[in-house]
Amino acid sequence: QSADVRAAQIPRYVRVNTSMWSVSAALEYLASCGYTLRDCVSSDPKAFARDEHIPSLLLFPPQTAFHNDPAYKAGKLILQDKASCFPAVVLAPPSQPLVRVIDATAAPGNKTTHLSALMGNTGKLFAFERDRKRFGTLSMMVSRAGCTNVDPVNADFLTVDPQDAKYADVTHILLDPSCSGSGIVNRLDYLLESEEDSQEEEDERLEKLAAFQLLMIRHAMKFPKVTKIVYSTCSIHAMENERVVVAALACDEAREGQFVLAGRDEVLPAWHRRGLPEEMESADSVVRCKPGEDATNGFFVSCFVRQSKKRKADG
Ligand code: SAM
Repeated sequence: QSADVRAAQIPRYVRVNTSMWSVSAALEYLASCGYTLRDCVSSDPKAFARDEHIPSLLLFPPQTAFHNDPAYKAGKLILQDKASCFPAVVLAPPSQPLVRVIDATAAPGNKTTHLSALMGNTGKLFAFERDRKRFGTLSMMVSRAGCTNVDPVNADFLTVDPQDAKYADVTHILLDPSCSGSGIVNRLDYLLESEEDSQEEEDERLEKLAAFQLLMIRHAMKFPKVTKIVYSTCSIHAMENERVVVAALACDEAREGQFVLAGRDEVLPAWHRRGLPEEMESADSVVRCKPGEDATNGFFVSCFVRQSKKRKADG
């Protein structure tokens, strides 16, 4: 199956931005636009469905265009692949005024706006983006989505001092760093790139990315009060996924901070596809999405938690 055939099978996913709108108001609006809610998405261009795993996510036929839709333009609807909604749901930041969260690699801001909505637009979400141009996109998206609890910062996360008083109370960190993008089947630029690269160049590129990804996790583990770190990629390569997680669990920061992998019950238990068992012992604790089979792009999600005294006693 070619990548464009696989891409055509991916529904048009639309997330209701619950910072601005309720799902029921969105359903009423869509009905007023002539759409009919059905049990599952079909080829009927006027039918749509609700997602079974992400409560705020709606599914439309793949070719459905939303770019001129007033609700999309107003930031009430966000176009976001299903798998890309998983990290914020797994991080599950509490909705409380004193909660402090970091999105370490935020642009263009799909997961930032999702986190903000899950936080009920309360507390504080520091959203770092090192690239200036992409930071502009992030700021625009955050403002359009009405995320008043987000503080966008144009900085390299690796230069942020974990001991800085500003971040002393950060408990949740989302890490969705640059990756090979090898899971993305609806972006033709990646396909062109991969066809040009030799195997050797590709391996070298993956090694560099994996080293960077590991560095980012290790840095996140240094924040004194962090209890939960979600690491995700849109890569299908074990080198950027399971192997990075295994290396992270063995690093000094994980041992000193007593970080372990969250169990399956905390990481989308209802999702069928898990990690590669040949790559790690607790592959059941991490989530994979397979392009062409799961009606999503390729994706990987893992979750590190600080082992509390209670957890240790239980275990
Ligand atoms: N989470 C984003 C979303 O859902 O919209 C997508 C993030 S994208 C995969 C990775 C982003 O991280 C890129 O915009 C990249 O410029 C940024 N980035 C990479 N390294 C970074 C670093 N050290 N500090 C901050 N941002 C970084």
